[in-house]
Formats: sequence, C-alpha cells, structure tokens
Amino acid sequence: VRCDIVVVGAGPGGSSAALQAARGGADVLLLEKRQEIGSPVRCAEGVSKRGLERCGIKADKRWIAAEMKGAKLHSPDDTIVELSEELAGNEVGFVLERKIFDRELAAMASDAGVEILLKTMAVDLTTDGEGARLTALREGDKIKIDAEVVIAADGIESKVARWAGIDTTLKPSDVESCFQYLIGGVECDRDYTHFYIGSFYSPGGYVWVFPKGGSKANVGIGVQTSKIPRHERGYARRLLDDFISKHTSLAKGKKLEMVVGGVPVSGPKYGTVGDRLMVVGDAARHSDPATGGGIINAIRGGKLAGEVGAQAVREHDPSREFLLGYERAWRGEFGGSLERDLIVKDLLTGLSDWDLDDLAHSLSGHRFEDLLGLIEAIREKHPLVAGGLR
Ligand SMILES: Cc1cc2nc3c(=O)[nH]c(=O)nc-3n(C[C@H](O)[C@H](O)[C@H](O)COP(=O)(O)OP(=O)(O)OC[C@H]3O[C@@H](n4cnc5c(N)ncnc54)[C@H](O)[C@@H]3O)c2cc1C
Repeated sequence: VRCDIVVVGAGPGGSSAALQAARGGADVLLLEKRQEIGSPVRCAEGVSKRGLERCGIKADKRWIAAEMKGAKLHSPDDTIVELSEELAGNEVGFVLERKIFDRELAAMASDAGVEILLKTMAVDLTTDGEGARLTALREGDKIKIDAEVVIAADGIESKVARWAGIDTTLKPSDVESCFQYLIGGVECDRDYTHFYIGSFYSPGGYVWVFPKGGSKANVGIGVQTSKIPRHERGYARRLLDDFISKHTSLAKGKKLEMVVGGVPVSGPKYGTVGDRLMVVGDAARHSDPATGGGIINAIRGGKLAGEVGAQAVREHDPSREFLLGYERAWRGEFGGSLERDLIVKDLLTGLSDWDLDDLAHSLSGHRFEDLLGLIEAIREKHPLVAGGLR
C-alpha cells in the first residue's frame, strides 16, 4: 500500500491529524488496531468548552452527556472549594460520550478523504532517504505501507516513536494508574464535577466523580504509580472501592462498566519529531500534568501535525528540520501551559493533607471566577504556597 501520510491510532489525536492532513491535500491512511473506534472508552470524558472552541469543534448534543457549571475540589477533611468552569482547567465544561465523539472525529476525517483501516496494528517502522515503511498486521495478515510521513498517535503505550529511535520511557512517578467505574442509579450533583484531592483519597493523584447525565456518573481514581505499594495488585481499585463504600449516594448505584488505564503526567520529555515522523497526543506526553486531561491537547497537537505533514508532502521535504515546524507550533500553542501545570502538580503533590485542609479552609465559601482572584486569595492566606505558584 502506498500513501502520503500514515497515521497510527484513531483516538482524538490521530483522527484530528488525519483530518487536517487530508484537508491539506495529502493522501492519508489512518490505522486503528481495535475493531471499533472509541471503544472501549478509557476516559472520564471531561473537556473544557474553551478547549473545544480552540479545536474549532462545535458542541453537538449527540456526544454531550452532561454540561457542567464548574468544579468542586474536596480537601481530605471534605472542605469544598468551588471553581468556575473557566478556571477549572482542561477537564471541566462538558462530560462527553466518547464512544460517539471519537467516532464523529474519525467520520469527519473519512469525509475529508482519509481511508481508515480497522483491526490493523502497526508492528514495525523503518525510515530512510527513500521513505517510511510501516509494517502492520491486518486481521492476521502482514501488510507493508510506504509513506512519506508517519504520524504516531498511538497513545500512552506508543511504540511507533520508539521504533524511530525516540526514547519514550516514563518513570513510575510520571504515570497515573487509573481505575474507573461507570455507575448507574447514583444520586450525584448533576452540575459540577467533583475532585477529591490528597493522599487520604489517593497518593499523588485524586478521585473524581463526573456526572454523565440522568443517574449515571464516571467515578474513578488516579494513583501516582511510584506510590503504589510493591506487589500490591489492584491497589487503585481497592482505594476506589473504599471511597465508594463510604459515599452511600454512590454505593447504592450499579456498576455498568470498568476501565483500567494509564495517564502520562510527565509533561513533554523528549522531542516529538524525527525524520519523516511526528508524535502527537498521549504518545507525545501532551496530557495535562496536573489533571491528566489529554483530549484537547491531542486534538490541537494532531491538527498542527496534520498541517505540517501535508505541507511537507507538498514541498517534498519530510526531513526532521522541516517537521520541526510542528514542534515549534505546539510549544507555542500549549507548551507553556504544560510547563506551568507541571509546576502546579509538583506543588500540590508536595503538600501534606494537613496543608491541603488548611488551604481549603481559607478558600472555601468563595466561588473563584478567575485565576487572579484565586492566586490573590492564596497569596493573602498562604504566602509560601503563593511563592511556589508565582
Ligand atoms: C481513566 C482515564 C480517565 C481519563 N479522563 C480524562 C478526562 O476526563 N479528560 C481528558 O481530557 N482526558 C482524560 N484522560 C486522558 C485521555 O483519555 C487521553 O489523553 C486521550 O485519549 C489521548 O488521545 P490520543 O489520541 O493521544 O490517544 P488514545 O485516545 O489513547 O488513542 C490511541 C489509539 O491508538 C490505537 N493504537 C495503539 N497502538 C496502535 C498500533 N500499534 N496500531 C494501530 N493502532 C494503535 C489505540 O487502540 C487507540 O485507539 C483519561 C485517561 C484515563 C486512562
């Protein structure tokens, strides 16, 4: 098989890259190892409205499960701090139905001319001056794909970048191990996402309750992998089961789905470009280090990679130097916020439960509408924390 650009992985990053590359005139192939796009869902499905707007995506009832007014942060002693939707970050605004959302993104790519191959798993990549050659298994058969440019959008476990010589290794402290239930028949706040922060709930992570409309909610936990006691399998799930059993409104619900997955919270640690290769989304560690939210940056990064890839094909220059335009573009668009949120993560995970309670006591009762208001309040009550944030 021959094409201009081959994209590996039909998550939000891959579909967005494929769509943009096709719009730029390239002949694009999108490979997905699963038999269904968007399923199984490994996500709490929260996105910000502003984030979607930045991606140029119009909100559509078909894939919005619930609309949020903001987020409520619970400290270990259950003091609540309320944040407006604008302030709550990449994960608050809408709770999606990702099974539909991811398919819609892929359908848009297909409408733009992208050919999608399901049940097709990339297994090897070689590149040289002549081109890139990707080997894939398609329903058991080996196929060879010759392309000018490869876009790796193969998620947290990305292998494509590694085949091209990029060291993608993550330390256990750079990964949140997540476990989530979709629970039906719960009584939960339908207007706010809830985050429970502190080692009381989860060492180096948090518990979330995201309403999904009706009586359903995504209830999950992320635990910093380095903080999981050795040999303790099922640790995240046990902590989550404990949490649910203590919240009667959740405990009486019925578990409808289970999700296990990892989220990179390292921030970008390596270059995302090689000869004939660009890396996007979770594979590029573009998820927010503070929250783990990665849908929006995967789409934004995918769009930039698609644009640069199509340009490289038009100008017959798939060299690393040319593709570095992609690296410069995403660093300009959201690299700064990834660096800032890495600092926020280190600061928050460095606070003891007692510090978090103390901070929450002094902030609760206000509804913070903007970042400056929040920072001002922290500066007044907690100069040391404010120093770190600055
Ligand atoms: C429990 C959990 C909760 C989360 N909650 C949120 C949230 O609320 N909000 C948010 O913004 N983010 C959340 N995230 C993160 C979010 O899911 C990811 O950041 C996002 O999906 C990244 O998109 P992507 O396209 O980079 O990768 P993915 O969505 O992981 O897509 C990668 C695709 O590549 C395919 N693939 C992999 N290898 C190959 C191969 N060799 N050949 C062919 N195909 C391949 C996979 O099957 C997959 O479809 C959560 C993650 C987890 C695990």
